[in-house]
Amino acid sequence: MMEPKKGKFVTPGEVLCTEEEFLPTRSVFTENGNVYSAMCGNVETRDGKVLVSNSKAEVDKIGRGMLVLGEVVSEVGKVLFVKVDDVKAGSKLYAALSDGKIITSSHSGPRDRGGPHGPVGKICKEGDVILAKVDEVGDDIYTLGLYGPETGVVYARCSECGGDMRYDGAERVLVCTKCKHKEHSRVSALYGKPNEIKSLLAKALTQPQ
Ligand SMILES: [Zn+2]
Repeated sequence: MMEPKKGKFVTPGEVLCTEEEFLPTRSVFTENGNVYSAMCGNVETRDGKVLVSNSKAEVDKIGRGMLVLGEVVSEVGKVLFVKVDDVKAGSKLYAALSDGKIITSSHSGPRDRGGPHGPVGKICKEGDVILAKVDEVGDDIYTLGLYGPETGVVYARCSECGGDMRYDGAERVLVCTKCKHKEHSRVSALYGKPNEIKSLLAKALTQPQ
């Protein structure tokens, strides 16, 4: 078991560590030797104790229509599974309480050919960071979709050598900065622009859907 990441945002029921590692104190509970968070907040460890403190941010849930960032963790058939990040906007924090999925068959039809993203081979691959829209909030998973030029891959590593990929706007492909390997992914208009992504996420939250 790893030491709980200091300051990490946790939700009720999330396992933090074992009782042997840290003494459970505030806003946590124990079961079978494990220490769990009893509320939404930030993990703190000091002097051998673990506690969850009130998150300074106002916490809300991720909802339908929101833009989210996430990492593609696996691909099973026509479904991509995405680890969704929490979204921070000003003093507000939208907690990702589930993982997400993208049904790829609904995004690879003829409609996509020659669109703003060019010919699409594969939408994305494992390890890519993507920007997507929440279509549906299910009981245990978010259904995500890719609509509009901002959605798609925003950061990728080369599948051949692990190098950083750069977007070639003329050829509309991702090109590895090390080995020149090319990938035809569905690339976001905000590829490699972390600051613009941040402000877009925040802006999307303050505007009515
Ligand atoms: Zn490479």
